[in-house]
Amino acid sequence: MSNWNCLNVGVVGGGIGGMSVAIALRRAGHAVTIYEKSDYAGEVGASVSCAANGTRWLHEWGVDVAKGDPVVLKKLINRDWKTGEPVSIYDLDDYEERWGYVYNMFHRQYMHAMLKDSALGEEGEGTPAVLKVNYRCRDINLHTGEITFENEAIAYHDLIIGADGIGSAVRGILGIRPEKKPSDQSCLHANVTTEEAVKAGLVDYSQDSALEYWGGQEGKWDKIVLSPCNGGKLLSYYCFFPREQGDYTTQSWGAESRSTDELLAPYPKLDRQVFGHLGIGKEIQPWRLWVHEPYPYIQRGNVCLLGDAGHPMMPHQSQGACMAIEDAAALGILFSRRYFSGDIRQALAVYEEVRLPRVTRVQSAAARAAYNINERIGFSCNKEIPTYRVEDQKNVLTIEEMNAYDMYKDIEEKLAVKQGQTYMGSFLCGLPVGLELPSGIVIGAA
Ligand SMILES: Cc1cc2nc3c(=O)[nH]c(=O)nc-3n(C[C@H](O)[C@H](O)[C@H](O)COP(=O)(O)OP(=O)(O)OC[C@H]3O[C@@H](n4cnc5c(N)ncnc54)[C@H](O)[C@@H]3O)c2cc1C
Repeated sequence: MSNWNCLNVGVVGGGIGGMSVAIALRRAGHAVTIYEKSDYAGEVGASVSCAANGTRWLHEWGVDVAKGDPVVLKKLINRDWKTGEPVSIYDLDDYEERWGYVYNMFHRQYMHAMLKDSALGEEGEGTPAVLKVNYRCRDINLHTGEITFENEAIAYHDLIIGADGIGSAVRGILGIRPEKKPSDQSCLHANVTTEEAVKAGLVDYSQDSALEYWGGQEGKWDKIVLSPCNGGKLLSYYCFFPREQGDYTTQSWGAESRSTDELLAPYPKLDRQVFGHLGIGKEIQPWRLWVHEPYPYIQRGNVCLLGDAGHPMMPHQSQGACMAIEDAAALGILFSRRYFSGDIRQALAVYEEVRLPRVTRVQSAAARAAYNINERIGFSCNKEIPTYRVEDQKNVLTIEEMNAYDMYKDIEEKLAVKQGQTYMGSFLCGLPVGLELPSGIVIGAA
């Protein structure tokens, strides 16, 4: 568009979302500086999943996905709590064929390094982003675009993106006061190397290339989630249990590892194979779980929120990172030469209209899946199994909704309305009109 101009963009927070938006915006022709409060020392490893709706943007941005050393998932397996026998399996054999992209499971540090290389590297479209570490944002003047940091530095930007995670400072600066409560569920995370598990004579779960779940049925909080990463060399275990059996709501990652006794205590009846794996677990860390109600808005002035800063969610749909990547993609499109008219306010208003409904839907489905695995994308289609129960069949979140979504179409629809034009496309909120979801809903039907 004729009024496109290069913006000087400040990104507060250099995590998964911050790096992603730096890639998207440098490719769109803007000058990007990322301000990160830490120097990345002392990060703990855990898996992060990136389903097709996240992977597609990595490819569109030319990210070297192999650098993330992912495991490409072939199945989702739900196992019986005591016997370990499969109860519900969702096969991903035709996943890439159907959706065009694979389901990757990354180790968070590898994923972060992969994204950082694309954001800051000389290769790739646009000007490499600049990273400033040990810059903790203290305040932003919403009228002038001035950011002040704890180290007394000051910066000015045309557009500021708050990608500063669940404890976001930018969110408070925008005047959002989260309605939140500690979850009734607690979580400890443990790492197990495949090599040590095999040496100890235990099952080699890496062979399944699957995201595996023990329990999660019958409204119970107990659940073990196993995700393989680093090409299968590392098994990342998320171990959930009722909060009354251990409260970690005020703890954070990075402290000394908890003991395996503490990890195993809530699970006297757990399948002995996975119990054995947990028994050799390392780097045992609590993961704080807080339930946030959706925020009323995610932008004000020339500032917006992205990722966990704008919509923290429970981990049970494995979509936290994907939603941050999608946010980044939306900003990359809205500020591209094709769509940006020079009106930052309009672009951010459309960003909010496109992102809030979608993330809110994933957020609430993630809260339901915390105690009912049948609500989890994938398993939500396995209606034939005897234990299948969901709150509202018409409301379940399905793979179709996540992966058939066309963000360009969603943005075009919302932009047309803002610009007083009639949208003539055959999509509704990014989904093709006429698409029948497994929930029985047909997109666009009266
Ligand atoms: C242990 C763990 C496991 C997870 N597993 C999964 C999973 O399996 N699947 C999945 O999809 N998601 C998972 N997630 C969630 C996922 O990592 C996040 O949803 C996703 O990374 C969101 O990215 P983000 O950039 O919004 O936040 P983050 O990646 O948390 O990044 C925020 C960044 O902002 C920085 N920062 C904070 N405050 C300031 C400030 N004031 N000034 C400057 N910088 C600041 C932080 O240091 C950090 O680098 C997991 C999260 C954790 C913690």
